Amino acid sequence: MSDLIDADLPFLTDLRRGLHAHPELGFEEERTSAIVANLLEEAGLEVHRGLGGTGVVGTLRCGNGPRSIGLRADMDALAMPETADRPWKSTVPGKMHACGHDGHTTLLLGAARALAKTRNFSGTVHFIFQPAEEGRGGAKRMVEDGLFRLFPCDAVYGLHNMPGLDPDEMAVVEGPQLASSDSWRVTFRGTGTHGAKPHLGRDPITAAGAFLSALQTIPGRVVDPLQPAVVSACSVQAGDPKALNVIPDLVEIGGTARAYSPEVRDQLKAEIGRLAQGTAQMFAIAADYTYIRRIPPVINHPDTTQRALGAARDVFGEKVRTAFPPSTAGDDFAYFAGEAPGCYVWLGNGPAVDGALHHNTAYDFNDAAIGPGVRFWVRLVERELSGEAAHD
Ligand SMILES: [Zn+2]
Ligand SMILES: [Zn+2]
Repeated sequence: MSDLIDADLPFLTDLRRGLHAHPELGFEEERTSAIVANLLEEAGLEVHRGLGGTGVVGTLRCGNGPRSIGLRADMDALAMPETADRPWKSTVPGKMHACGHDGHTTLLLGAARALAKTRNFSGTVHFIFQPAEEGRGGAKRMVEDGLFRLFPCDAVYGLHNMPGLDPDEMAVVEGPQLASSDSWRVTFRGTGTHGAKPHLGRDPITAAGAFLSALQTIPGRVVDPLQPAVVSACSVQAGDPKALNVIPDLVEIGGTARAYSPEVRDQLKAEIGRLAQGTAQMFAIAADYTYIRRIPPVINHPDTTQRALGAARDVFGEKVRTAFPPSTAGDDFAYFAGEAPGCYVWLGNGPAVDGALHHNTAYDFNDAAIGPGVRFWVRLVERELSGEAAHD
């Protein structure tokens, strides 16, 4: 198996660099998904195109094992310029693969190509190539379009590269990996009046000030101190800097909320609203409140984590970390992990060259991680669909 993967590395490296040079934004991955679908078909998989817009699912069945698993790669790039010079630099102004999804796509294709040849497993693998991970809702759209109805999965796995870990190193950790990422808005509705005659109106700005200064009591005084939570007000709009003698009718406030558990997420939603309504009542004005649930937290299930850990140890030996801090970023893989037990692993991307981390204009996926990443996916399928014990 290892020889087969090694022999495919020149092809996969060219493929990765080709994808890097032709980045496409979420739901626009026409070229990328065509390449993916064609390569899967060429390898002999059943291919479903156009699920969730530009999403692709390739299915490989082998033997009579009843278990089905889904492996996820994301395909989209970011709307930002690439500044570093390299032969495979982005050819599209203002778009670049700054999160390594070119690499993720390549790894999963490499695994599909290898497994289609060796077929050393018994069961069904769905290779899920997702559009629009970067905030455009690709995973949700695939689920809404029937991903798990068409391709039932007993478990789902996701992988993301991580600068700072070696390319032959992996972190597989049970529990929270990525935070929920939600938005909220509060509008305080007072009665505008002359700045010199506040008693003739109801001032929403003073109310907003009280609300903002109380906001941090939610993570500080309400949420369990052992549970991470972030509430940030990121936008405040009111009045006009050219009208400094006018108390406005409205103050509009917006922000973000992050948590690592569904319970804390619900708590943040309830508490921000309670504070807004309570403040409005205190100042005899009105408040409108909306909380927009965007992405749930990614929480690794104990069973799938053990399965992924077994495969990681087979491939990476001692270089598997079982303790690694979760990220305050989000990944909509959470929608897949909401439908079946899930595990999201971190594959090393080597040192961050010149500090180029994810979403940096000089970032690049490290091709040295292609071999290890493909080996991990292949080993995971072989173990997951072999009937071998999950716990070792
Ligand atoms: Zn990203
Ligand atoms: Zn990413």
